[in-house]
Amino acid sequence: MYRTHTSGELRISHVGQEVSLSGWVQHRRDFGGMTFIDLRDRYGITQLSFNEELNADLNEKARKLGREFVIQVKGEVIERSNKNENIPTGDIEIKVNELNILNASKVPPFTIEEETDGGEELRLKYRYLDLRRKPVQEKIVLRHLLNKTVRNYLDAQGFIDVETPYLIKSTPEGARDFVVPSRLNDGEFYALPQSPQTFKQLLMVSGLDKYYQIVKCFRDEDFRADRQPEFTQIDCEMSFVERKDVLNTFEGLIRKVFMEVKGIDLGEIPVLSYDEAMRRFGSDKPDMRFGMEFNDISDVAQGKGFGVFDSAESVIAINVSGGNSFTRKELDGFTDYVKRPQIGAKGLIYCRINEDGTFKSSVDKFFNQDDLKQWATQSHAQPGDILFVLSGDTAAVRKQMNELRLHLGNLLGLRKRDEFRGVWVVDFPLLEQDEESGRWHAMHHPFTSPVLSDRELMKTDPGAVKANAYDLAINGMEVGGGSIRIHDRELQQEMFDLLGFTAEEAQAQFGFLMNAFEYGAPPHGGIAFGLDRLAAILAGTESIRDVIAFPKNNMGRDLMIDAPSPLNEEQKKELGL
Ligand code: ASP
Repeated sequence: MYRTHTSGELRISHVGQEVSLSGWVQHRRDFGGMTFIDLRDRYGITQLSFNEELNADLNEKARKLGREFVIQVKGEVIERSNKNENIPTGDIEIKVNELNILNASKVPPFTIEEETDGGEELRLKYRYLDLRRKPVQEKIVLRHLLNKTVRNYLDAQGFIDVETPYLIKSTPEGARDFVVPSRLNDGEFYALPQSPQTFKQLLMVSGLDKYYQIVKCFRDEDFRADRQPEFTQIDCEMSFVERKDVLNTFEGLIRKVFMEVKGIDLGEIPVLSYDEAMRRFGSDKPDMRFGMEFNDISDVAQGKGFGVFDSAESVIAINVSGGNSFTRKELDGFTDYVKRPQIGAKGLIYCRINEDGTFKSSVDKFFNQDDLKQWATQSHAQPGDILFVLSGDTAAVRKQMNELRLHLGNLLGLRKRDEFRGVWVVDFPLLEQDEESGRWHAMHHPFTSPVLSDRELMKTDPGAVKANAYDLAINGMEVGGGSIRIHDRELQQEMFDLLGFTAEEAQAQFGFLMNAFEYGAPPHGGIAFGLDRLAAILAGTESIRDVIAFPKNNMGRDLMIDAPSPLNEEQKKELGL
């Protein structure tokens, strides 16, 4: 028997017991006559002690153990004279009387402890060693708990886990497909799914009623920070549901997940319309942990002779509570921040609200105290606060102000790591227009139903049509999205027409779905959550790489197995490449 206990298990109550443990040598301390080893496994660390006086050969053997050797020891649990309060096994140690080296180890390329000296590339190359580290392992275990909670919840709600194929048909919608050549069908290719969207809808046509799958999806996108070419979704679909049914079911899921994984009650998740989210926060995934909401002060800021405001579509102010204490230098810093090319504002206007109730703005030339008072009133500002004001085209100002709001939130410590706030954003526009080509694109995907009362608008004013779609954002990050689907062939055809598909193209690419709609397709809708992102939020890490056992780097390379890699000529020939 390799072990009677794990390395995280033994306590003072075990003193006197003969045990055997197996694990890795994390650390060896050599005091001449005494040798101490920290033995590590997934469960923790236990101290082993060797004493020259009791057994000189054994002590000598222990002195030769290197880091990461795999060993088995037998011995007696004894109380430690020098207790370590930092670890649960810190009251005891094992007085070893038998040591077996199960496997030697080369010196690892970086230290395998909570803190490591290894850079990211090196750790990715030796990911199996990085995964021995406790903080890394903990995230993988957390992900398991997340998975398990999701499965238990959905199972209890009657959802059925159905696998859908990975080798499917390429469609030029959305992101780029990864493709796989077919050896048996010369010159033809499969695509890896960007999501199981059409399959889950077909399962509804099949009457499966409630489907879920924790499923890999593949998108061949240009590498942006923190994207993985393969990622995991919690993919779900339900029949005979309206929006509120879907939101209720999955609010339950997310609250359950936060409760089980973090012990946190997320509370009821508020619902904002897209328009309201944009108006109040300038974002369709607002961070609800703090206020600093937008105030449109156009009506009181325009018409006073300040050309910048007068020519703007919108003048928007945010109030920073207590912000009057910002120094001149800090204000200059915020101005520089919004003028960075990525943000693109021309400048930043401020208005201090002094403790005595007077105002001091950067545009005093154009605005008197009464004018500024109106700004303050409309922005709910108090003495001691400061207003920041941006103006321009509404969409652009909102975007810039959103960046400034988040920046200030970070700076002022308002985006707390251990606080979680969700928000549903609903009623997105159905379509967005490509500025250059004038072509309409589905904002969510082409299977999303318009809000039915807007159906007529599809012909006259497509940009005004709302989608029956919803997103869930937590702490300013999108974690899920879905929609009520089109289940009517005619409407689906109309949607494809709007998106510029000819009837032949629509038939060739999505004929299977439209045909299915002619055989009694039930009303249905669903959602998909980004499991990696959700796990990262729960684990309190910025990067989804941390919650993926074997992630790729930001060039899409697996540094450990060295993929992608070229094929040899024979393989290529066989595949007709
Ligand atoms: N398939 C969609 C996506 O991957 C989610 C959904 O509509 O259910 O974004």
